Amino acid sequence: MSLYHTQQIKLYNTLTGEKEIFRPITEGYVGMYVCGPTVYSNVHLGNVRTFMSFDMIFRYLKHLGYKVRYVRNITDAGHLENDADAGEDKITKKARLEAIEPMEIVQRYTVDFHNVLNTFNFLPPSIEPTATGHIIEQIELIQSIIDNGFGYLVNGSVYFDVHKYNESNEYGILSKRKLEDLIHNTRALDGQSDKKNPQDFALWKKAEPTHIMRWPSPWSDGFPGWHLECTAMSTKYLGDFFDIHGGGMDLKFPHHECEIAQNQASKGQAPVKYWMHANMLELNGARMSKSTGNYINPAELLSGNNDIMSKAYNPSVIRFFIMQASYRSILDLTDDGLSAAEKGFHRLMDAISLIDNLKTGTNSSINVTDWKQKCYNAMNDDFNTPILIATLFEAVKLINQIKDGSASITPEDLEILKETLNTFVFDVLGLVNISKTNTGTDKLSSAVEILINLRKEARINKDFALSDKIRDDLSEAGIQLKDSREGTTFTTN
Ligand code: AMP
Ligand code: ZN
Repeated sequence: MSLYHTQQIKLYNTLTGEKEIFRPITEGYVGMYVCGPTVYSNVHLGNVRTFMSFDMIFRYLKHLGYKVRYVRNITDAGHLENDADAGEDKITKKARLEAIEPMEIVQRYTVDFHNVLNTFNFLPPSIEPTATGHIIEQIELIQSIIDNGFGYLVNGSVYFDVHKYNESNEYGILSKRKLEDLIHNTRALDGQSDKKNPQDFALWKKAEPTHIMRWPSPWSDGFPGWHLECTAMSTKYLGDFFDIHGGGMDLKFPHHECEIAQNQASKGQAPVKYWMHANMLELNGARMSKSTGNYINPAELLSGNNDIMSKAYNPSVIRFFIMQASYRSILDLTDDGLSAAEKGFHRLMDAISLIDNLKTGTNSSINVTDWKQKCYNAMNDDFNTPILIATLFEAVKLINQIKDGSASITPEDLEILKETLNTFVFDVLGLVNISKTNTGTDKLSSAVEILINLRKEARINKDFALSDKIRDDLSEAGIQLKDSREGTTFTTN
């Protein structure tokens, strides 16, 4: 029997606006699609937060014993500036500015994306399809939307007829918008567009002569619309109706709304049972975003090479910080928040490293089985990681009390405590024990620190022969000292 038989998840479904009991379409199997990045620049930490939320969800579903097919795409064409239907392709624009091939841009930032996710200990998705690898599927999809009367062709481009669709369907069902309000709030077309109505969106765009990323189609040499790519890739690998579709909150409208419309118009059914949206990471009180310049890249945070934070932070500390908030809450990235997370993370790791040497007794101070179920209850309640972490800290407190003799635990309960902590801390939250992986480096740092202080003393005593000897001998051992106004630091080669 799998764990999912006894642990029942309730998750917040954006479509219904309610927390619902999670019942997969096929028992024991979960199909999950998450909109991936548009690979035209380095991902910022906001992007990372959204993908991390779904990594945590993927990890928990797997832990419960579900067979999960997790599809997360790479958008490598068709995403135009300002997420609009006109303007330059984001990737082509970057390629033009750097005078290189669009596919070089795609390659560079796909590699960067994977490196960043590896640094934060992400599990790879089951399938990572690219938009350019699924042009044929997209053309077929457009054809069926046209055949069913919901798409129209103008000057080589194909558009989705939102007004026609809304006669028999509900456009706005996900984002709770009404077409009348949308009409009221959009400016009239300026005569430049081929669209019948401003609410219509592009399924296929005819390429301008200068547009490099183009493919032949029955309508023109052109490229697919961004919304269409996700419909093609999700349904190809997960079927016309699948369990979970995720993405950041900002994708709810129009991107996900259009995905629903495209599926209804081509396949006559809604694509997704549970829509899940991760909330935004903020910096200085505003959403982190490439276009406004209000962002920090993971590399800058990890190296400490930035003007915002007081020092460098370890990827597991950043992960812990992100996991301390519910995926549905807005989270503000601050130096104070990261510092506090760093302390908490180390307290958790210190407690875990004590477990194997704890003395056991004949009774336990807490009911460990109840505590373990409390951990599951937190995750079952819409993946509530802050409550989970608070519950894990009950164990941290207990471990410290057992160590100083003010609490006790039986050997059987200690085993349950250890296994449960390992499960939730490492398998579900995806944290990595730095003290375990970095013991060597930490000891080296401490040793060099001692030598740096000795050298400082030697200089104060004007014993320059000794101070130079320490520096030169370290250099020969591959450790370079660097003096600056702030003090002495070292690098290794
Ligand atoms: P993009 O590459 O711009 O399509 O974004 C990739 C993913 O990151 C999408 O799911 C976005 O919703 C998400 N995202 C963008 N900005 C933020 C942010 N500030 N916080 C959290 N997620 C974000
Ligand atoms: Zn998408």
